[in-house]
Amino acid sequence: MAEARVAPGEQFAFNAGRLCLDFVNTVRSRPTSDRRDLIDTYDDLLAWARQATILTPEEAAALGVTARQGTRTAADTLAQTRALRESMYAVFSARAAGLPAPAADLQTLNRSIGRAMAHGGLTSSGSRFEWGWPEAAPGLDRVAWWVARSAAELLTSPDLTFVRECASYDCGWLFMDATKNRSRRWCDMRTCGNRAKSRRHYERRRAAGGQPAAP
Ligand SMILES: [Zn+2]
Repeated sequence: MAEARVAPGEQFAFNAGRLCLDFVNTVRSRPTSDRRDLIDTYDDLLAWARQATILTPEEAAALGVTARQGTRTAADTLAQTRALRESMYAVFSARAAGLPAPAADLQTLNRSIGRAMAHGGLTSSGSRFEWGWPEAAPGLDRVAWWVARSAAELLTSPDLTFVRECASYDCGWLFMDATKNRSRRWCDMRTCGNRAKSRRHYERRRAAGGQPAAP
């Protein structure tokens, strides 16, 4: 069994503004040969879902037991969920660039949405009802239902126009631009934004013949 690539204590990022985009962002450096997939095993998928609070610790533990009883099925579910993630990336990335969604990726996404809808229903707590998954025992692909539903909601929402792809050439992360003047360019100022800032600073210094750039 492959060793989980998510180091103990390492957190996934949840700053994209939508569940489906946070899930897309479980791949680092997607467009490069240094691409790093943070969801390497079915357990990684459960860890992400726990941190995203779409599974309770009890549900995740129960799914972990089910997965170990049928490793083949868990491996198939993992492969299917990762394929869904790549198709979501393709569809949202195309949209962010003003391009039509690739037909094959939309088809993959639609298959997942169909499975999610087949399991969806109302759950009640007190006087409130919510869309959820009323089956007592969650299926191994419960995480895919959540992210597919989140993608369907965003794709049919006016908020779709706020989806952006990080301007860093080697990043590939997606996010919702919630800034007032719609000017957010980076997935995170602490990573890609900071690197761009340092690069601009370096280029200004170089242009000034090695002298520190004027403020
Ligand atoms: Zn980035």
